[in-house]
Amino acid sequence: MNFCSACGARVALRIPDGDNRPRWCCDACGAIHYENPRMVVGTLPTWNDQILLCRRAIEPRRGYWTLPAGFMENGETLGEGATRETAEEAGAQVKLIALHAVYDVPEVHQVHAYFRAELLAPTFAPGVESLEVKLFSEHETPWDELAFRTVAMALRDYFDDRRAGRHQLHTGVASSTRRGAGA
Ligand code: ZN
Repeated sequence: MNFCSACGARVALRIPDGDNRPRWCCDACGAIHYENPRMVVGTLPTWNDQILLCRRAIEPRRGYWTLPAGFMENGETLGEGATRETAEEAGAQVKLIALHAVYDVPEVHQVHAYFRAELLAPTFAPGVESLEVKLFSEHETPWDELAFRTVAMALRDYFDDRRAGRHQLHTGVASSTRRGAGA
């Protein structure tokens, strides 16, 4: 951040009085611009025993496979965001079943949440952010071509649950020291 979004003056990074970490501070108008983690929300859409994945048409990780997910918008709920992202990226209509996982990604200041969801029909089409949308059986999962660590985590946790015959809410921290692809 270079300039204050409230008054346009130059901002400086310093620890405000009474705080304990650096913030972008505007000495002209006194505004303090806090930066907090961003929420990414998506779905794990299923049709029978298959999972719907999207191949990304945009950076980062263009060409890699992902679950439909994206940044939550102001004014919507988690579930609305998940449903909207699934429609936008995969051209698919889903019924949300339950929250599947919430993963912290502190290295990039994000929290990723995925819902289990069922396709209402086996109809889907790539949106502008996808090159291709396809159903995969577990053994077809492109593990080496997944876009993001939390996508791999969500899929592993889902398949483990399915084998165990019960679904539960998963939490975890995605870090670069953990095996897996991308941010
Ligand atoms: Zn200002």
